[in-house]
This record gives sequence, C-alpha cells and structure tokens, in this order.
Amino acid sequence: MLQDDFIYFTMEKTKHIALIAHDGKKQELADWAERNQDILKNHFLCGTGTTARLIAERTGLPVTAYNSGPLGGDQQIGARIVEGRVDFVVFLWDPLEAQPHDPDVKALLRIAVVYDIPIANNLATADFLLRSAYMSETYIRKVENYNKTVQQRLEKFKKD
Ligand code: PGA
Repeated sequence: MLQDDFIYFTMEKTKHIALIAHDGKKQELADWAERNQDILKNHFLCGTGTTARLIAERTGLPVTAYNSGPLGGDQQIGARIVEGRVDFVVFLWDPLEAQPHDPDVKALLRIAVVYDIPIANNLATADFLLRSAYMSETYIRKVENYNKTVQQRLEKFKKD
C-alpha cells in the first residue's frame, strides 16, 4: 500500500457537492440550482457562506455553509476535499472580475485536480456533469500516493 504509485477513493452514489460562485456569477448558480433541484436533492450540499445561503433559500434544500470565500471558505472546501468529505464541485469563478482571494481560488482548483475531483467552472460543464450516469453510481477516483512520495522524500533528506 505504502509503495503503490496510486491510491483509490470510492465516491458513493450520494455525492458530497460543494457549490461556490463569485458575486458576478451568484444569480447564474442560484438559477441553475433551482432548475436542477430534483437531482441535487439526492446529494449532500455545502458551499461558501453567501452562495450556500442563497441556494438554500432559493431551493429549500439543506446546504451546509462554510465561511465566505474571501474569509477562507474556499480553503475550508479544499480541506474537505483532502479529508475525502467533498467529492464534487461546482465553482463558478468570475473571469471578468479580480478577486481579493485569488490565491485561495487557485489553491482550490489545484487541490481538486490533485484529488481527481469532478469540478465544473461554467454552467455547460455543470449541466453535463450533473447528467452523467456516474451521479447515481459509485465511481473510483485515482490519486497520487503521497505517502510513497513522503517516504521517498524523507529518505532523501535523512542523514547517512
Ligand atoms: P461567498 O464566497 O459564497 O461567501 O460569496 C464565494 C467566493 O467568493 O469564493
């Protein structure tokens, strides 16, 4: 296990979906969530503070709210990905507006790739992902075995 190049995580039929939208994209995401609430209601939802509350109000679905994005909400969701507690993300970041928490945005996008998380950054991708057969099946994600990497790095830095 420690020597394997990859480790595998099973995503259950019920997904843990994180929803995030920058201000210029919040209405788009709320409209999308409303249109798709019959699918979303079968999954666990969470999101950054303002987005989560907006979607909860619009759909009537329970949405766990983390901190607002600029106050660390993106980082909280990134940490949940690392812990295996978020396995699907819809993140409508705004390509036309600079964000004060741009490093956090980049960090979340990066960690989603590291953990092989499906992540939609626009509505078309969100529509395609949500209608994927995998939404109602299990799916196995393949992730670099960092335990092996850490072990190798440790060996490199150990004194002889
Ligand atoms: P918000 O955060 O949902 O609290 O507005 C989103 C973001 O800007 O990352």
